Amino acid sequence: MRVPIVAGNWKMHMTSGEAEQLARGILDSLDGTVRVEVVVCPAFTVLERVRKVLGDSPLKLGAQNLHWAEEGAFTGEVSAGMLLTCGCEFVILGHSERRTWFGESDTTVNQRLRAALGAGLKPIVCVGETIEERQSGATEPVVRRQVTAAFKGVPAPDAAGCVVAYEPVWAIGTGLTATPSQADAVHTSIRRVMRELYNDNVARAVRLQYGGSVKPENAADLFNRPDIDGGLIGGASLEPDAFAAIVKAAV
Ligand code: PEP
Repeated sequence: MRVPIVAGNWKMHMTSGEAEQLARGILDSLDGTVRVEVVVCPAFTVLERVRKVLGDSPLKLGAQNLHWAEEGAFTGEVSAGMLLTCGCEFVILGHSERRTWFGESDTTVNQRLRAALGAGLKPIVCVGETIEERQSGATEPVVRRQVTAAFKGVPAPDAAGCVVAYEPVWAIGTGLTATPSQADAVHTSIRRVMRELYNDNVARAVRLQYGGSVKPENAADLFNRPDIDGGLIGGASLEPDAFAAIVKAAV
């Protein structure tokens, strides 16, 4: 049985004091009722501060990216080892904002994924099509290409422990959400790709999140679908009550 997983991507929001307040607010709103895996992914600058607030609660910490090198002359970058020492267990990789604005490619997502796994971090690998790709009927091949490239050279046991977030680019931060059946169809095809790349065990084990304007009002319908194992939440993860409601919808 796959344990549902809901992760909050705080993006480039929250100074230290604000981040501390948000983390406390989420803990209060969840009120101890965490029966799914919950991860918060703040900016690098506040990871340690948020970790202190989370303390020994069941909430887990994640980062929003990493560089594949262990260390070196890579100004502005952060390594897997650095994230581990800040208390991270998860890391988001290949988010469409990284691909769109910072030139990340299928190849560098694969490098990051292998570095994360090598260091013992749990990756949340983002894939998803643009509106033009969806309208031209290319959703399935685009997502297949992204998944295949991301997992190149990744052994089956590692792949089984990964999370893949299907995030249609046209639904991120736009208020537009894929319908539960649109999302589920892509999730089913991602599981099929994992079966082809690996085997049935990996395809059954890998957890697939949906991301793209998830809110308390639409979360339950999405999470009720058999191949949707939770969500990657942007905007609504900055509001404690909304995030907690989404977590509860995944239980
Ligand atoms: C995201 O950035 O991963 C995301 C899903 O954002 P939003 O929920 O705001 O659409």
